[in-house]
Amino acid sequence: TAPAHWLFGDQLGPHFLTPGAGGPGRDAPVVMIESRAVFRRHRFHRAKAHLVLSAMRHRAAELDGRVRYMRAETYREGLREAVGDAPVTVHHPTSYAAARLVRALPGVRVLPARGFLLPHEDFRVWADGHGGGRLRQEDFYHWVRRALDLLMDGDTPAGGHWNHDHANREPPPRKTATLGAPAPYRPREDDIDAEVRADLDRWEREEGIRFVGRDGPRLFPASRREALAALRRFTEHRLAGFGPHEDAMLAADPVMSHSLLSSSLNLGLLDPAECVTAAEDAWRAGRAPVNSAEGFVRQIAGWREYVWQLYWYFGDDYRHRNALRHDAPLPDWFRELDADAVTARCLATVLAQVRDTGWTHHIPRLMVLGGFALQRGWDPRELTDWFHRGFVDGYDWVMVPNVTGMSQYADGGRMTTKPYTSGGAYIHRMSDLCAGCAYRPTDRTGDRACPYTTGYWSFAHRHRALLAGNQRTVRAVQGLDRLGDLDDVLATDRRWDEAPP
Ligand code: FAD
Repeated sequence: TAPAHWLFGDQLGPHFLTPGAGGPGRDAPVVMIESRAVFRRHRFHRAKAHLVLSAMRHRAAELDGRVRYMRAETYREGLREAVGDAPVTVHHPTSYAAARLVRALPGVRVLPARGFLLPHEDFRVWADGHGGGRLRQEDFYHWVRRALDLLMDGDTPAGGHWNHDHANREPPPRKTATLGAPAPYRPREDDIDAEVRADLDRWEREEGIRFVGRDGPRLFPASRREALAALRRFTEHRLAGFGPHEDAMLAADPVMSHSLLSSSLNLGLLDPAECVTAAEDAWRAGRAPVNSAEGFVRQIAGWREYVWQLYWYFGDDYRHRNALRHDAPLPDWFRELDADAVTARCLATVLAQVRDTGWTHHIPRLMVLGGFALQRGWDPRELTDWFHRGFVDGYDWVMVPNVTGMSQYADGGRMTTKPYTSGGAYIHRMSDLCAGCAYRPTDRTGDRACPYTTGYWSFAHRHRALLAGNQRTVRAVQGLDRLGDLDDVLATDRRWDEAPP
């Protein structure tokens, strides 16, 4: 018989078990291991712990007689108990730490990674041929579209343009509190969820395992059936409106037209190829405009795939980069998701979304959470860890490039062309979050000074030389030079070093 095949908790869809080249043996027995030590070592959001355990146990229930499901302290112990010294296969795991572990275990044969669009070797050839150090996401995206014949008409991009970003940066509607998009798919909990919740309660009570955040009703798919329903609901009813307000934020409508598919993709319940194909099909059938279909395809084939490839291409040391020498610790109120301690309405709203659901869309992550951390000079490694544990879709491979590179510029510009942070004016333009806030985005001194505005100037002041040397940020320095009250602004800004904004 074929050797047993080990499935990690983010390899849960059927495509991780299809036999054939680079796959497990046909009908190979399956091993799954729930490691308790993972939860002892790190403090996860409870909704995330719930989702991952629920998804693993749903998969085990589907595989029924074929699976040995181990509840063990460590992976090593679980594997030994499941198969003893017998050989096993496993698809390449998604983190450096797990990759080291499987290589160090005797008898484990590592098969190529699945769950992404392109093999690492192809990316390496592409990247080495494109200057290595200064890669451009847009070039990568075109290359992927061509390589996979995705949204292409022959050799030209379908719909006439590679990129419809210009149509996808609209501010939110001003007269309504919500976008009015059709509701997203939400699952219904079952007995497996009840069992998971009882286990988590017991671990907290009896084993001293600690979580952050609230574990309300499960909001994200935990099985292939649920994930397919979510994908279908999105492509049939919500994709059409995905594009225009992609970057906008509304206090009463955190989801807007976002797909909510990241956790399903990252658990391996959905394959990215089927998601982009579904979006292209919707456009070709006239169910979605090209800017929405292209915008969604770009997120998955352009960004998700890029981040995955860069994680391996940049190497394990990349996580330690700290080009801006930011070393302030994360304050407790942020670490504990204490939204009630925060006055600034944007940050309080977003922090509450994370506390209550373990999710918020990309602009709150980048501009509200990441932007604030960058302004305060918080340690990027601590911040990466915070994001990783606190989000339902957080995994090492996706958080390290997104936080270290994209959001904190800790790599000195290997991933992005400029640091992303902004004053209150940006948040005001792109959201309704400044309405009713105790601060005013235009104020930079005094009681109503907006912490994002003071933080922006303080950041520009600290990193003046860096920003002056970059075409894309030189205007920030010119603006700084025009401020007549910089000393007051900096003094105002120091308030937020002591207390939540
Ligand atoms: P949509 O807006 O509907 O986008 C569709 C899909 O595109 C997502 O489901 C996701 O799979 C993919 N995608 C888009 N951008 C990215 C990206 N930068 N990296 C990876 N995938 C992307 N995404 C994660 O999946 N896990 C993370 O841990 C994560 N951390 C982030 C941290 C920061 C600081 C930032 C700025 C972004 C992060 N993202 C992460 C990317 C993005 O914010 C989420 O993928 C997205 O908000 C998930 O919601 P959605 O499924 O509704 O996304």
